[in-house]
Amino acid sequence: MKITKRSLLKSLVAVPALAAPALVLASAGKAISQTAMPGAQAPGFYRHRVGDIEVTALLDGFTDIPTSFIFGYDEAAAKEATAKTYHPFSNEAISIPVNAYVIKNGTDTILIDTGGITAFAPTLGKLTANMEAAGIKPEDITAILLTHLHPDHIGALVKEDGSKFFENATLTISEDEYNFMHNDDVRAATPEDFRPMIDAARAVLAPYADGQKMFTGEQELFAGVTSLPLPGHTAGQMGYIVSSNGESLLFWGDVLHFTTLQFEHPEWGIAFDLDVDLARETRLALLERVSTERMPIAGAHVDFPGIGYVEKSGDAYRYVPTPWMPV
Ligand SMILES: [Zn+2]
Repeated sequence: MKITKRSLLKSLVAVPALAAPALVLASAGKAISQTAMPGAQAPGFYRHRVGDIEVTALLDGFTDIPTSFIFGYDEAAAKEATAKTYHPFSNEAISIPVNAYVIKNGTDTILIDTGGITAFAPTLGKLTANMEAAGIKPEDITAILLTHLHPDHIGALVKEDGSKFFENATLTISEDEYNFMHNDDVRAATPEDFRPMIDAARAVLAPYADGQKMFTGEQELFAGVTSLPLPGHTAGQMGYIVSSNGESLLFWGDVLHFTTLQFEHPEWGIAFDLDVDLARETRLALLERVSTERMPIAGAHVDFPGIGYVEKSGDAYRYVPTPWMPV
């Protein structure tokens, strides 16, 4: 993919006031108990099975995205699409969840993405508390996979002192994604105000350098866990397909951001996309594939727990949350 200064700026310019690395470092490990608070939602975890593999969805919180960040947005079309999903409509901003997932394949306990940072949005940063509520300790995590390196996916990687939060975990990361964020030409071409995002990503990844594995393309990374390149949103965004006993689930990261709008209007993009056209191409091809194959997906910003099916609906698609299952 050709990365131009313009496309980079396009992706960064709309990012809200970004955290300095120190603020990123301050986000992990703050256990905020939600279970006992009057008026709180249920604890933010949800269990799902894929054959013999146990999946735990973890809610990190939510963030409000202004509709002005949506490419292709049209108020009347948005209102109609939102009504079809039974969500409340706002022409100003849309609340989207930030989800992460733990998968256990019998050998490894793998965390896919680590939520956001309170400095990025004060309504984020609850991943570790919800992990605790789900009975998973940070030291239980043996491996970390990241879909990409945006701030809402790498928040809990390190403690306040900058050391590994998941001390027994090794990082397995997309080479394209890692290299993009560590490319000094990219950093130099980034406006000064937005360089902290790059510096923060580098800072939270650094403690994991020891034992870090990099990969490209489609590969079986762990038993039953295979990578799937999903470029466009970022240079090296990766999806992960978990398979066991004839069942599967695709973790698709940020292929789309709005449950309310982008199944109905998959041609709509977001200002965070590094390459809007490639992101759209990836999204359209993937929606076609998962709807045809009836392959369930897990989305970082799909309504929590973010696990469900994509159904064809006329010229577009419809999201069908996975039915509850006993685990
Ligand atoms: Zn995201």
